Amino acid sequence: MKDIKKLVRPNIAALTPYSTARDEYKGSLGILMDANENPYDNSVNRYPSTSQKEAVRARVAALKGVSPEKLFLGNGSDEAIDLCYRVFCEPGRDNAVIIAPSYGMYGVCADINNVERRMVLLEPETFALPVERLLAAVDSDTRLMFVCSPNNPTGNAFAAADIERLAASFEGILVVDEAYIDFSSKPGVLPLIDRYENVIVLQTLSKAWGLAGLRIGLAMSNPYIISLFRQVKYPYNIGTDTLALALEKLQADIAPQVAEIVAERDRLAGLLPAFKCVQKVYPSDANFLLVKVDEPRGLYDALLKAGLIVRDRSTVALCEGCLRITVGTPDENEKLLKAIEDYES
Ligand code: PMP
Repeated sequence: MKDIKKLVRPNIAALTPYSTARDEYKGSLGILMDANENPYDNSVNRYPSTSQKEAVRARVAALKGVSPEKLFLGNGSDEAIDLCYRVFCEPGRDNAVIIAPSYGMYGVCADINNVERRMVLLEPETFALPVERLLAAVDSDTRLMFVCSPNNPTGNAFAAADIERLAASFEGILVVDEAYIDFSSKPGVLPLIDRYENVIVLQTLSKAWGLAGLRIGLAMSNPYIISLFRQVKYPYNIGTDTLALALEKLQADIAPQVAEIVAERDRLAGLLPAFKCVQKVYPSDANFLLVKVDEPRGLYDALLKAGLIVRDRSTVALCEGCLRITVGTPDENEKLLKAIEDYES
């Protein structure tokens, strides 16, 4: 068993968290004169209630099959990424090992928190997880390791066994970002949080759930780490309207829509290689495709002219020549195919 407590910054371990007025009083009856709010009801004049947040947490926990004390809800998973640094990394001393190419916020949050980032390139072309090189980049000041699976922007999910090897061998905190896991046919690694004290799994309502505008992200780990996140977060990190809308939207059955996006992804992956300008479509377990083309900037500009905005990843190491294309509706995907056809003719 790893001693997680030793990895926590001493000031965080010793923190007396801010106690909100609503933490101290959990009821809803009576005249509220405890939180310096405006007393006139406009539906959002009160701070978010703890019970509303707990209702959303209970619903998300049930959907994920974890107990609520193992779940943190953040202002997007971006908040959880930042919290990993704030809880575990001593600015100016500690470092984080991060796969590359991957989601930019792992590195940006390292920079913001003045934590050295050690970028470790995936295997070229296969984008496989370089387990040995990741472990070789670790030293006694490495507190965090970030792995994203399915990975953005490469699209591939890593083998669960490889991720587990990292969890078992790494003495720091392994953060596995599964923002795109609902689109993957490979199993995720959420069960690892019950077997390894040092694993945090991030997921989000921004992708398969279609709630990017709400800003709700999930961190799942053991109750000790989750309690630290809850102490360090801003007191009211998720707003009243967001919580109310989340509870409503979480009643939806997302399976048919996810299945359609996956089917459209696979359809595009089948059709795109027929274009002369397309060199390669990388296999994807996510809701986007990484596509290597002859002249990425030329195609990018042509798509833009046709009203289609894709992501130019051609300057990113290992993604030279690549555009990242998010799967749209069938109609939008047809427009994409037509625009590439026009570009080539
Ligand atoms: N992780 C990954 C891998 C992402 O690609 C993104 C957003 N593109 C996020 C996290 C951020 O998600 P959220 O909206 O939950 O902050």
